This record gives sequence, structure tokens and C-alpha cells, in this order.
Amino acid sequence: MDFQPDPGLESFRQEVRQFLQTKVPADLKGLQRCTRSPREQIMRWQKILDAQGWGAPYWAKEHGGTGWSVPQILVFDDECTAAGAPTQDGFVQKMLGPVLNAFATPEQKAEHMPAIFSGERLWCQGFSEPGAGSDLASLRTRAELVKSGDGDHYVVNGQKIWTSYAHHADWIFLLVRTNPEVKKQAGISFLLVDMKSPGVTVRPIRSIDDAHHLNETFFDNVRVPVKNLIGAEGAGWGITKFLLNNEHATTADLPELNRYMRELRQFATKLRAGGERLIDRPEFALKLARLDAELQAIGMLVQRVAKLDQEHNPASHVLGSMLKIRATELQQRITETQIEALGDYGAVCYPHPHEPASDQAYPLQDLARGIANDMFLRRASTIYGGTSEVQRGIIAKMQFQL
Ligand SMILES: Cc1cc2nc3c(=O)[nH]c(=O)nc-3n(C[C@H](O)[C@H](O)[C@H](O)COP(=O)(O)OP(=O)(O)OC[C@H]3O[C@@H](n4cnc5c(N)ncnc54)[C@H](O)[C@@H]3O)c2cc1C
Repeated sequence: MDFQPDPGLESFRQEVRQFLQTKVPADLKGLQRCTRSPREQIMRWQKILDAQGWGAPYWAKEHGGTGWSVPQILVFDDECTAAGAPTQDGFVQKMLGPVLNAFATPEQKAEHMPAIFSGERLWCQGFSEPGAGSDLASLRTRAELVKSGDGDHYVVNGQKIWTSYAHHADWIFLLVRTNPEVKKQAGISFLLVDMKSPGVTVRPIRSIDDAHHLNETFFDNVRVPVKNLIGAEGAGWGITKFLLNNEHATTADLPELNRYMRELRQFATKLRAGGERLIDRPEFALKLARLDAELQAIGMLVQRVAKLDQEHNPASHVLGSMLKIRATELQQRITETQIEALGDYGAVCYPHPHEPASDQAYPLQDLARGIANDMFLRRASTIYGGTSEVQRGIIAKMQFQL
């Protein structure tokens, strides 16, 4: 793979940068810390992107996307983060959207795509259950088909857990068991469910960063029309593998890693310890250089994995697992080093970015706001999207097969 800078990419970067400078409304800027912007901001930003023709930046042209190459997508994500633009709905852009493009009927696309592009409908992912996380195929949420005069429908009963942003979502894509009699993978189906359906209850789980991202989601005799089944009944496991295999390169969250590193460099040049700038202390400068070198290596691996993904090369699975482990561990180390750099002010002082500013002044307050939340939240990055232990198992098996 050629890692040399591409001059064409530089003009694309300038185009994106200029768009962001003029089109990100001032009141939406800079609130991106802690994984996701509030619901209204995501919706407003999606409308702006859609008006520019960038409503689906990661999809092929034939599906209404931008048709950007992998390096262009990486530039777009990086520039959006650097500009402090609001986040998009990753569940729909990176997970559900590609599934609908590949498996949905024309009627299903006609029902859901317009609201996805215009940002009027946000989604969440209902996969994990209390007894089914790493071993997802053991899921027990049951969907029973009922034939009736006023339209065939499924009746869904069960519980999902760790449903990120279910409290902001209009719809959920849900894995359900439609047949308990067959091999566990063969009895799973993929359903789309309106969160306003009677019988859906969302209860918050507060996470270690003291914020509300996570939920338990309960389904109590929820009636779901058969037209909301994606693919055939029992085909849900194949669709899930397609969905999970699409996100290898994105699990690294490279734009966020780049942002953490930019911030850490600023801390190192602006903060002092014992009268000396941190960057002038050899042990801190060495630590910074090591983190930077690892980040450069991850940047190259991201490009490689994304290219393999685009070529549908199965080597992306094992490299994607390696990338997931190394990138999420680096997220944890850089955010911990940020807290360390802030010294006595460290973890406890900085208010959450979505809460009103306090009167007390902290060093580099604008830059460091919400920093402890980020550090705590990153503890979970080695769990979600497949734990590090599970990724190591995948790597071990793949090496054995080579
Ligand atoms: C912040 C966050 C957001 C999330 N968002 C969502 C979401 O939006 N939607 C959703 O559906 N899910 C979501 N999840 C759930 C996530 O996918 C699961 O937490 C993850 O798959 C692990 O499953 P588990 O929590 O049940 O742990 P378990 O699978 O019970 O694992 C417990 C421990 O056992 C280890 N272990 C399990 N199996 C193996 C094995 N085969 N080999 C070695 N070690 C093993 C694990 O590594 C872990 O240390 C989220 C999780 C977090 C933390």
C-alpha cells in the first residue's frame, strides 16, 4: 500500500475545511467531546450535510452516498472532529445504512431512507442482552409471528441492555429469536422497531463517566409489522456478520485519537511543572514521542484495513481485530496522560461539556472541559464493539489457520 501524500487529497481537505468553516453554526461548535452530540444538534447538522449532498458520506454513489474513497472518508472525519462539528448518527451511517442498502426491499428503503438523509429519525442498536454479549448468538428476545386479519405481525418480548442512546432514538434495529428449535445462529432475525410502539420501555444506566449514554430496553408484547423484517426470517445472523464486518476500520476512532494527541501537545507546551514547561522535561517529551509514534502506526493500519474492507478481503478481519485492540488501548493511554499532564487539577475538576460552565477557572478550561469524562468513558472502549479478549481469540484462531 502507498502511504505517500496524495496532492489530490490535499485539495479535497481544503474543500471540506472551507465547508466546515462556513457551515458549522457557532452554537453547534466544539461540543463533540464524550462520544456524541445531543439529539437536536445531530439532527440540525445532518440537514446541513444533506443540503451539501454529503448526507451519507460513507456510502457508494449508487445508494445516494458521496462515493468518496477511503482516504477521503478519513480526511472528512478528521476535519469534522478538528473543526468541532457535531457528530452524526453513527448507528445509521455506519451500521444500519449499509445493511439497508444491501438487504432492504425497495418499499423498506422508500420508508426509511428519506428520514435518514434529512436527519429526522435517529436509530439505536438492540443486540446485547443480559446473557448475550460476547456470545451474541445466545440472545433470547423472542419474536412470534401472529397471522391476523389486520396484517401479519411479530409479537416481541424480551430485554436488551447497553442500548446506547435508546433514549434519543426514534427507531431501533433489533436482533430477535424467531425460531428456538434450530441451531442458535439459524433462529435469529433482524427487525426494525419504532421506539414509540406500545410496550417499549427504556430505563437509563449511568456509566462510570457519570453521564447517561446507556440504557436497558424492554419489550413487552410489542407488535411489529412483518414488513419491518429485513431479509428472510432466520437470516439475521448473516446480516449481523455483514454489519459487524463493515466497521473494522472505524473501531479505531482515529479522528478522536488525533484530537487527543493535538490536545496533549498543547498541554505539554502550555502547562508547567516545577517552573518548567512539560515539553521541556525529557521524560514527558519521550512519553509524548512514543504515543505519537504509535498513533502514526495506527493511522497507517486504519488505511490498510479500510482498503481491505473495501476489497472484501477477509484479511481485514484479523487486522481489524489487531487494530481494535491497539487503538482502544492507545485511546486509554493518551487520555490518562492528558489527566496526568493536568496535575493537581486532573480528573475531578473539569465539568461535563454539556453542563453549564462553573464560575471556577481551571487551567486551559476551554480545551480541557469534559476531559475526565472522556478518560472514564474510554475505559469502555476495550469492551464495546467486541472485547479485547474476544479480539485476541479471533487473532489466535486466524493465525492458526494461516
Ligand atoms: C459503553 C458501551 C456501549 C455499548 N453500546 C451497545 C449498543 O448500543 N448496543 C448493543 O447491542 N450493545 C452495546 N454494548 C454492549 C457490548 O457490545 C458488550 O458489552 C460486549 O459485547 C461484551 O459483552 P458483555 O458485556 O455481555 O460481556 P461478556 O460477554 O459477559 O464478557 C465478560 C468478560 O468475559 C470475557 N469473555 C467473554 N467471552 C470470552 C471468550 N470467548 N474468550 C475470552 N474472554 C471472553 C470478556 O472479554 C469480558 O472480560 C455496549 C457496551 C458498552 C460498554
